[in-house]
Amino acid sequence: MAEKVQETQKERSMILQKEMIAGLFNDLAQVEKTGKKVCYTFIPGNLSELIRTFDMLPVYPEINALQSAMRKKSGGYIREAEKNAHSEDVCTYVKCDVGMMLNGNIGPTGEKIPDPDILLLSYTGCFTFMKWFETLKRSYPNAEVVMLHTPYQEKGEITPEMETYMLKQFREEVIPKMEKVSGMKYDEEKLKKHLALSREAEDWIVKIFETTKHRPSPIDAYFAGVYYIGPINIGFRGTEKAVEYYKELYSEIQERIKKGLGPITPEGEMKEEKYRLVVEGPPNWTSFREFWKIFYDIGAVIVASSYTKVGGVYDLGFRHDPERPLESLGEYCMNCYTNMNIPQRIDLLQKCIEDYSADGYLTNSIKSCNSFSAGQLAMMRELEDRLEIPVGFIESDLVDPRYFSYSNIKNRLESFFQMLEQRTMINKNKEAETV
Ligand code: SF4
Repeated sequence: MAEKVQETQKERSMILQKEMIAGLFNDLAQVEKTGKKVCYTFIPGNLSELIRTFDMLPVYPEINALQSAMRKKSGGYIREAEKNAHSEDVCTYVKCDVGMMLNGNIGPTGEKIPDPDILLLSYTGCFTFMKWFETLKRSYPNAEVVMLHTPYQEKGEITPEMETYMLKQFREEVIPKMEKVSGMKYDEEKLKKHLALSREAEDWIVKIFETTKHRPSPIDAYFAGVYYIGPINIGFRGTEKAVEYYKELYSEIQERIKKGLGPITPEGEMKEEKYRLVVEGPPNWTSFREFWKIFYDIGAVIVASSYTKVGGVYDLGFRHDPERPLESLGEYCMNCYTNMNIPQRIDLLQKCIEDYSADGYLTNSIKSCNSFSAGQLAMMRELEDRLEIPVGFIESDLVDPRYFSYSNIKNRLESFFQMLEQRTMINKNKEAETV
């Protein structure tokens, strides 16, 4: 049995984020009075700046699902969806979202999330996104549907034809539908202002995740990292608030570095940094705290993760560009992690392992997420061959509690940590022999 964990310590940045999220759900609860239009969309390839340009409010079904899991409601919602003919193999984010809809679509603040006026699908590599929105379309027949089809980086590059195709879709499909739903004309100057703020936030986020180069790392780039990416992934990219949040977070982290402190965990500071890891794959949300605890109890800190790049890969240099507004929105979608081919993902992970001096590489393979799980074993073997680094593999699920086995995961992780320990001893002996 996992031990009971204590209350999380709160810093100013955490409070700021909490206020932002509460504000968004409050605005959503008020749409009947304010007349604001509601846009359901996904995190990878999210067009936050464009949605804001049309004064719409975003809803992210994935966020609804993960919040339901953290509130221990996802198991019931998934069973409800399965009773309604959604197979066991379907992505559990989808089933959790469907179950939540069948139960009145009540959000984390206890108020109903309004129905969508528009379903905006920026399709970035995951086929499930399309099926998910087909399901939503059946539930919300009055919603307008628009699909931005993002070409996959099959050959690991973005060609001029791909750029032109994206631009054409923005001009001929996406913007006209958003004008129709919002009743507003497209205002490019307004979009540019949002994009300038996005670029600023993206610079900060890269700086924040680069702080894990320090020893000890002042942050955990996976378990805490999923909170850090919150504001840019749930509709605040392109706002002053997001920039303020990231500035504040960065200054808090700088304080930690000055004091030589490790990451904050739900039980306070991590005292000793024993192992530095790179993790591939999303976390488990139903037992998030217990899962994290296995790592911090042993002194394992995650110095980089692919999952924190799911809403945008900024460390390879991409930034939203107010001088090329629609072009850069298209490039953003094409550069999403789920839209990158397997060799690109391997190169990115190799860069993470090298840049952040990781001691080991761990895959958390998610049962229901084909988009992440396909190719994960081959990626792991390739990294093991290239870098001769200890690798580990565990399996869980995003929001289905039936697929999180605490004892199995703990056993596997303990074997992985033993392997890391042995490698550390061998390296120390080699160093001693050289001296
Ligand atoms: S399969 Fe994975 S990427 Fe696709 S919707 Fe489900 S969780 Fe998201």
